[in-house]
Amino acid sequence: MARFEWKRAVIKVGSSLIAPNNQCSTLYLAAIAHFINESHKQGKEVILVSSGSVAAGRSKIAYKHRPSIAEKQAMAAIGQMHMMANWTSLFECDCAQILLTADDLHNRTRYVNIKNTLRELLKNNALPIVNENDTVATAELKVGDNDNLAAYTALVAQADTLIICSDIDGLYDADPRNNPQATLIKEVLEITPEIHQLAGGAGSSVGTGGMRTKIQAAEKCVKSGIQTLIVNGREASVFEALAKGELTGTLFVPHQSRQRARDMWLKHSLLTKGSIIVDEGAKRALTDKGASLLPSGIVAVVGNFVAGEAVNIECNQAVIAKGLVLYNAADLANIKGLKSSLIEATLGFSVGEAAVHRDDLVLM
Ligand code: GLU
Repeated sequence: MARFEWKRAVIKVGSSLIAPNNQCSTLYLAAIAHFINESHKQGKEVILVSSGSVAAGRSKIAYKHRPSIAEKQAMAAIGQMHMMANWTSLFECDCAQILLTADDLHNRTRYVNIKNTLRELLKNNALPIVNENDTVATAELKVGDNDNLAAYTALVAQADTLIICSDIDGLYDADPRNNPQATLIKEVLEITPEIHQLAGGAGSSVGTGGMRTKIQAAEKCVKSGIQTLIVNGREASVFEALAKGELTGTLFVPHQSRQRARDMWLKHSLLTKGSIIVDEGAKRALTDKGASLLPSGIVAVVGNFVAGEAVNIECNQAVIAKGLVLYNAADLANIKGLKSSLIEATLGFSVGEAAVHRDDLVLM
């Protein structure tokens, strides 16, 4: 049997697992939390994407028939606290709340901030728990569903794996609710129109066990080299198997590795907005040691770029690397040649010791 190998995963848990009867419950969460605690012990990194704020707060707000948007947002504000308290009680590490809207993911500065925060949380062994910021987001600002939010989170966190916990065993070749012959598809090598069709088609809102948005999420991830697994989040045995490296559910296999997809994207898809000229020492650190680019090795900054944009890294008039820069051109010009410990004193702030982090850099 194929092994389930991963280092950094986003695990998406839906409302029906968080608040099975419109009330927060640890019924299904205990096994998931145990799996996450075990994974931490194996040196793996996890980010949770947890739905359930509206469901968990539903019984706390008096509404008549269908709740209004404001009533739902009030439910979310109350329910989010209950949901977080519930999760927090199950972990040995610190939990960190991250509330996002689609706007945050589309804005370059905020995207970089999210990425930096996630990186810092993981470095400090905390468990980031992400949800949509339901209190501020209405339709046009929303990602809308947490399956797609989980895919965006996996991309920004540079995860290698997305695990979507569903209330069904995975993707079936027919609807198992009304077709006893339906069989589980264990592996999907390519997300074809037929696969979308199985999940309810692009236009329908209800798919086979709510699969439509899960397939959309899987599609976003596999394109970027992130393997995606849909499992039954109600079965404790699923998480026992995963902890042992055994595959269950439906696996969507990426076309290429995360590293390669990222390198290709950095190398070929991104337009550079400027250049950073570095000295020989920095060149060696990048090419021989796999290090991040620090301000101390920068001798000149060319162009006018903002934080998060792509730049060429050059030495002796040759482009040696390409990467996403963490400071804008003016700030970099001010800290070039300086030790990283002087960034804060020079700029009045610091987003980290590197000018370009290794994770965001590809050698040319
Ligand atoms: N963000 C919503 C909530 O926490 C859930 C959205 C979803 O489950 O797709 O209630």
